[in-house]
Amino acid sequence: MNKQKIVIAGGGTAGWMTAAALTKLLGKNLDVTLIESDQIPTVGVGEATIPTLHIFNDLLKIPEAELMAATNATFKLGISFENWRDVNQDYIHSFGYLGQDCWAAGFQHFWIKGQQKGFASEIGDYCPEHVACRQGQFALQPKQARNHALHLDAGLYAKYLRKLAEQHGIKRIEGLIDKVDLHHHSSSCLPDNNGFIKSVTLTDGQVIEGDLFIDCTGFKGLLIEQALNTGYEDWSHWLPCDSAIAVQTELTDALPPVPYTRSIAHQAGWQWQIPLQTRTGNGLVYCSKYMSDEQAQTTLLNNIKGTLLNQPRVIKYRTGTRRQHWNKNCVAIGLASGFIEPLESTSIHLIQQSIIRLMQLLPGQQNNDANRTLFNKKMRDEIESIRDFIILHYHVTQREDSDFWRYCKNMPIPNTLQQRLDLFRQSGQAYKMEQELFGETSWIQVMLGQGIMPEQYHAIVDLMPDEELQQFLNQIKTSIARKVASMPKHTDFIKHYCHAHTDH
Ligand SMILES: Cc1cc2nc3c(=O)[nH]c(=O)nc-3n(C[C@H](O)[C@H](O)[C@H](O)COP(=O)(O)OP(=O)(O)OC[C@H]3O[C@@H](n4cnc5c(N)ncnc54)[C@H](O)[C@@H]3O)c2cc1C
Repeated sequence: MNKQKIVIAGGGTAGWMTAAALTKLLGKNLDVTLIESDQIPTVGVGEATIPTLHIFNDLLKIPEAELMAATNATFKLGISFENWRDVNQDYIHSFGYLGQDCWAAGFQHFWIKGQQKGFASEIGDYCPEHVACRQGQFALQPKQARNHALHLDAGLYAKYLRKLAEQHGIKRIEGLIDKVDLHHHSSSCLPDNNGFIKSVTLTDGQVIEGDLFIDCTGFKGLLIEQALNTGYEDWSHWLPCDSAIAVQTELTDALPPVPYTRSIAHQAGWQWQIPLQTRTGNGLVYCSKYMSDEQAQTTLLNNIKGTLLNQPRVIKYRTGTRRQHWNKNCVAIGLASGFIEPLESTSIHLIQQSIIRLMQLLPGQQNNDANRTLFNKKMRDEIESIRDFIILHYHVTQREDSDFWRYCKNMPIPNTLQQRLDLFRQSGQAYKMEQELFGETSWIQVMLGQGIMPEQYHAIVDLMPDEELQQFLNQIKTSIARKVASMPKHTDFIKHYCHAHTDH
């Protein structure tokens, strides 16, 4: 039987993650080609990840320390949200778990009563990852789930994956795709394939045929949109930022790499600061309706330290999702499938989810509707819940100091999010459904951080006398403080564990 022929269009983070996974994990049964063009640069940002990246790297048997050294990576234990709830008010969304749950009620219920009684301190004191962020400390806990992510150089990550894919038989073609050719009734031997992609033609005349095409061409979606007209669902009424300006700076002694991403809210958007071992990635995400590109550049440059390593670069985007991520015989992965803005660093996670789901549902040579439908439903459910989580940060704010923040505070929000906010506000409950990414502790930390304090806690908490509750909370806090105090400084840990190569 002929091997199934898969064509990956695009060689950014999405293209090379897909290529490495398909060739390494299913390679023997597939014929995989990747086409990329030097004439079209990659988006060149995307350096903060979330802990799920381990799942992907483990599948590919990529050793963490080796990868970190090869990509100048640092550890990330969470995100510090500064000026989001209000100017001069900060909180951390950390990746750890909060305190100790009981069978009926999450830890937050015990903490809420402790707050009401005046003997609980801020929620982060009950989470090791949060305290480690604040103190700039880090250690791997061998017997624990890995609640950390990485900050990495995305260009070097793609390079690393390319090497892996090449070791496993990827065919790489350097060339510019000029035309996407579709099957028509007369040309297709399978009538069901009408309108499917038959091949892509490069500017040098090469024709690359395939059974399945993966569109990793970035925002424009050369195959999924320009050829197949799949359609885009625009979410900019909920997530109005549509621009970003990015620049890299040298590390300074005053700014050693911290084990978290900084997200600092400004008048019409927010600024990121992502520390690598060798430099800092900076950027401002903003809404062009309320801030011009020139104003954005001034705001960014006024708020960064260290010598610039490149020219600031503006990137325009539209927040939303492709109506179908898998249409006919084309699967869009990465920016070609849509973009929820980078606030919680979810794009690389969605890339790996698309890849893993695709590998699980990979059809044979006969494309099949049922696989497509299930893939699209799973992707859709996950993306909508991520969308809601991001909207929460903008909408639940006390800021009213600019038109942008007044808009965000007063805009209508999706019902799915409203229901979650009502539930938490009324009874301190949070939940995670099957396909969703963010767990209870993420929702709780951000809802509290943005200023929602539940009106009630679960009745089971009252079974505990006040004195016992106070002791329970203190014990957790003290043991976390002790545990974190014994950890090395983040920078020292990196030096020993994964010191960056100098010869990338
Ligand atoms: C401002 C901003 C900040 C971000 N921050 C984060 C973050 O912190 N964390 C995170 O997880 N994600 C982040 N992302 C998202 C992340 O950058 C992307 O998900 C990731 O880089 C994947 O991009 P891509 O590979 O889909 O597209 P691209 O990087 O745009 O790559 C497209 C590829 O397609 C090729 N191509 C295009 N057209 C053709 C053609 N005609 N012929 C041949 N080849 C072609 C190009 O050469 C290129 O190789 C951010 C995005 C933005 C905009």
